[in-house]
Parts: sequence; C-alpha cells; structure tokens
Amino acid sequence: MVSKQEQTAGAGSLPDPIRNYVGGEWIESGGDESHPVVNPATNDELGEVPFSTGEDVDLAVRAAAEAFDNWRRTPAVDRVQYLFDLKYELEDRQEDIAQALTREHGKTLAEARGEIRRGIENVEVAAGVPNMLREQSGLVEDVARDVDEYAVRQPLGVFGAITPFNFPAMIPLWFLPYAVATGNTFVLKPSEKVPLSSQLIYEAVDGVDFPDGVVNLVNGSAETVNALLEHPDVEGVSFVGSSHVAKYVYETAAQRGKRVQAQGGAKNYAVVTESAELDDAVPNVIGSVYGNAGQRCLANDVVVGVGDVYDDLKAELVAATEDLAVGDGLDETTDVGPVITPDSRERILDVIDEALDAGAEVVVDGRNYDHPELDGTFVGPTLLEGVTADMAIAQDEIFGPVLCLAKTADLDEAIEMVNSTRYGNASTIYTERGTDARKYRYEVDAGNIGVNVGVCAPMGFFHFGGRKESFFGDLHAQGEDAVNFYTDKTIQIERWYS
Ligand code: NAD
Repeated sequence: MVSKQEQTAGAGSLPDPIRNYVGGEWIESGGDESHPVVNPATNDELGEVPFSTGEDVDLAVRAAAEAFDNWRRTPAVDRVQYLFDLKYELEDRQEDIAQALTREHGKTLAEARGEIRRGIENVEVAAGVPNMLREQSGLVEDVARDVDEYAVRQPLGVFGAITPFNFPAMIPLWFLPYAVATGNTFVLKPSEKVPLSSQLIYEAVDGVDFPDGVVNLVNGSAETVNALLEHPDVEGVSFVGSSHVAKYVYETAAQRGKRVQAQGGAKNYAVVTESAELDDAVPNVIGSVYGNAGQRCLANDVVVGVGDVYDDLKAELVAATEDLAVGDGLDETTDVGPVITPDSRERILDVIDEALDAGAEVVVDGRNYDHPELDGTFVGPTLLEGVTADMAIAQDEIFGPVLCLAKTADLDEAIEMVNSTRYGNASTIYTERGTDARKYRYEVDAGNIGVNVGVCAPMGFFHFGGRKESFFGDLHAQGEDAVNFYTDKTIQIERWYS
C-alpha cells in the first residue's frame, strides 16, 4: 500500500506509477501485464498502465461491497457533502488534469478544460440528489380504505463503469457522482489508452476522504472488464465505447442479471438548409467535425447541403478547413490535435481511400500531413465531397478529422439519408425556419437533436440520449435517468389498525 503523499505527483507532473485505488488506498495491480501510455502528439512515453487481473477486480469489488452497508445508511444529505468537496478538489486540480489529459489524449487545452468543466457539472447536478429522490417517490393515500401506498428508492450495491478514450475526464464523471449520491458504491475501469486523467480525478477523490471502499479504480483492458462483468457482487454496469463492445457488455451483464446501460458508437449527420445563416453555421459545423480531432461521439462528420445552399456552403467549409492549425494540443494556437494511435490513423486513412474508390472526391487533402517538428499521429483536416448514402464512409463512424459533404434536392431526401445508418446518437439541422426544425426533430431517429447546435451534448440535468446501435439498455446516463438506473423502487403498502 502507498500513502497519499507518495502517489500524489507535483503540480503539472504526471502520476507515476499508475496504480489502482481500492478501499481508500493506492495499490499496485497484481498482474504482470502492462501497456505504455503514449502522448500522440509527440510519441513520448508518459507511463505504463497495469492490466489488472480478476483478483485485482475482486479486491476492488469486495472493498466496495464492504463499504455499501454503511454508505447506504449515510443520509443522502450527508452523502452529497462529499460531492460538494469533490467539486472543489476537482476545481483546484483542473489545470493539472487538463494538462495531463491533453498529453495523454492529444486534444487541445481549451477542449480539455471544457471537458473537465462538463464533468464537474455532473458532480454539481448529482449533489441535488436528495431533492431528486424526494420528487420520485410519491405517496397515494387510500388505495383501499385506510391503506396507503408509496415507493421508496433504494440503492442496490456495487456499480461498475467502463469508459472510452475520447473523454478521459468527463465520462467517468457521468457515472461516479450519481452512483455514490444515490447510496451505491463504485468501481471505475478507465480506458487503458488514457489512464492518467483518472489517476488525477482519484487524487481529488482521495482528497475528499470518502469512507474507504465507496469509490474505487482498477486499470486494465478487456480481461479487467470481463472480471467486472462476471463478478457476482456487481449489481450493475455502465459502459461507453464502440458499439460492438457496448453490445457485448450489454448482453454479458444482462445475462448475469445485472442492470446495464451501454452507450455505443455513432454516425451523425448535419443538414444545412437554404434558410441557414451560413456565417454562424459554418464555424459551428467546423467545431463539430474537427473538434477533438473528430474523435467525438457527437461529431457530425457528414454534412448535407440541401438544394441551392450547397455551393456557398462548400466554399465556406473549404476555406475554414484550410485555415485550421494542426499540432500539439499544449500549444494554444493549435485547432486540431493528433488522433489517438497509429492504428487509428491507419484506419482513418483506409476509410478515406475506400470512399475515394467508391466515387467520393477529395477537396482538402490531409492524408499526408506531416508536422515539421513533431513525431505525432496526425491526420490533417480532410474534406471530401460527392459522398452518398451507399458508401461505407456515410454509414460507419470515422472518428477522425474528416468532413464528408453530400448534397440533396430537399429536406425529405436529407432526412432519409440521416436515418439510413444503424446508429442514432445525434444529428443537427441548420435552419432559420421553425417548421423545418420541427420536422427534423419529429422525423430524425436520433437521441440528441441540435438546431443550429453542432455538438448537442446535454447538460448534466438531462439524460444523454442515444438510440439504435448507439445505445443498449433502457435508462441513459445523467439526470433523472441516472437516479432511476442507480436505485430500485421498493413499493410500500401500509395499513395501520390502531
Ligand atoms: P472501445 O470500445 O475500444 O473501448 C471502450 C472501453 O471498453 C475501454 O475501457 C476498453 O478497455 C474496453 N474494451 C475494449 N475492447 C473490449 C473487449 N473486447 N471486451 C471488453 N472490454 C473492452 O472504445 P474507444 O475506442 O475507447 O472509444 C471510442 C468509441 O466510444 C467510439 O465508438 C465512440 O463513438 C464511442 N463513444 C460513445 C459515446 C456515447 O455517448 N455514445 C461517448 C463517447 C465515446
């Protein structure tokens, strides 16, 4: 076991070594396997992430299970005091987390800071849980003579969360605050590609002094995930990642009788109509497609120009794409950072080449982008046109800085294209006509709809939508859905005789 002082890195430096956090202590993983953590902008090694074994997971789940009884008996108003403290601990460390996040992920510092803010927002929303519990357990008097009935929300036990690489600080905070505010205990398994942000978030957790075992962390990969999914003491699992793993996690956990919410991949379209204000729409589209180097489940990577707007839209998008600065996210002048790994870069280049073979044309070509000083995994912003619904690039997630332009004659044809994919995460319409916006909301089969908003990321007090192969489960992350996911409603029917 290691003390808090030994684990805590100095300001701006990275946590080393990377450890698990179990029962209120930083501990080494018992496994032999590990994997390098690499800065994708420079190819520098930042650390070595341990791949935790089934025994490591068992330790964490047992610590969480042991902590549950006392934690659920702690009044909700007292439990959320820890979240108020966590908010301030995170805010104190915000800049250190942002720097580490940019180094391990590659996104720009502005994006990293914005991401942490959105994570802290969930801590703030979850601190309102006592009120949310009250609102949802209404009493009905006299369901029969002298008989009253009501529902009591109760926590269930140990919950796990498995998170992806693209939002290393925000996504763990979609789950942790709600799980513990509702009286459950928690085990996080972050992405092995970006474990450093979680180390720093857990330093904030450690600073709060939650009762031992309430909040735990195990690093690792698929084996670690499987141990969590199979552990008999895990009551429920939250997952965010690619759709094929989301489906696997959903099925595996559900077969074992666990609650599960699994958010998958995406294929999001933006539709720009003739009434759109292009001066506002174009920078918004550019932010949606190229922000986070396109590695965002809400990125609208296909942009459909309806009717006569197409030529002006294309001209403005091309100019804006050519204007983007590629580089290290730590450099404040960078607009687009690297993609996460060399494999990811190769995959993106293959997707572009396949689209060109299928008849798309390249208008801005970032395929051979070579940074003059950095040995990073960069893909330059790339714009293709002539993309049609039958192409793989119009159906599959790109997850890179690639904008696909398509053209349709009218809004009906555009909506048909939007709905042609197997995903249903998000979509945006750019319009100044209310009737078009309403038609879009009504007919597009996606869980998050933007009107003149290219990244329609819901605030913490709303659930995060997602349909079709973008979501497996019933109750989504964040807001009231999170409270429902993390609690069960016991029905109480009462009659008193004297
Ligand atoms: P991923 O599916 O590769 O990994 C996600 C998590 O699953 C990681 O913790 C990883 O260790 C684990 N994992 C990977 N393979 C596994 C396996 N075979 N068995 C068990 N566990 C496994 O996803 P990623 O590449 O880290 O993240 C990108 C994906 O996440 C994209 O598809 C993106 O759209 C999606 N995403 C979705 C949302 C959403 O809200 N719907 C949000 C963010 C990211």
